Amino acid sequence: MSLLPRTLRPADGLVRLKELCGMVRLVRGHVGALLLLEDCQMCMCGKPTLNGESGYSWNGERAHVRPVDPPVLEGGDELLYDEPGRCGGVDSHCHHLRVVKSRYDGFKLLVRHGGGDERIDLGCVALDGLAALDSNARYWLLLRLYRVQSNAASRAIEKCDVAWRVAAAEKRIKTRKTSRGVKVWVEDPPSNVGA
Ligand SMILES: [Zn+2]
Repeated sequence: MSLLPRTLRPADGLVRLKELCGMVRLVRGHVGALLLLEDCQMCMCGKPTLNGESGYSWNGERAHVRPVDPPVLEGGDELLYDEPGRCGGVDSHCHHLRVVKSRYDGFKLLVRHGGGDERIDLGCVALDGLAALDSNARYWLLLRLYRVQSNAASRAIEKCDVAWRVAAAEKRIKTRKTSRGVKVWVEDPPSNVGA
């Protein structure tokens, strides 16, 4: 099961409605995979509000404090930026973002949302530009970065699913027992050259 944000298509059947921050739905994609769909929804807070500060309201009535809920650091992580969920027209209270420098393999974007934690590789080059931004500008830029990455990953999974389904229908999935287990591979489709 893939828990990645993606755009709803006409062929998607909504199999389950799961409210996570009021902006996430679990759907069955047209290739059969379960996918997490995120809608951009307007926030019900009276003014832009940061998690951990007073002013959050899920229904536009009583305001309270939405708890801060950060993604977990791993051993060797140096925390560079810590940006709790927030709103500013759009509701993003359920996405807490962090940028860390891993002692072992470069910079990472950590995301906690209703589906759990994600850890996204940002490469080994220092992100100097982030320091020049204020907290809000940094948060919305990082969130956009996360969504672009997630959408690309979702599309790659869909393409892979389709490739395996077509291969199965054409009986091109092959298996062979080996001394270390079972080897599985997909044969190339027959060439049309000369047809
Ligand atoms: Zn809000």
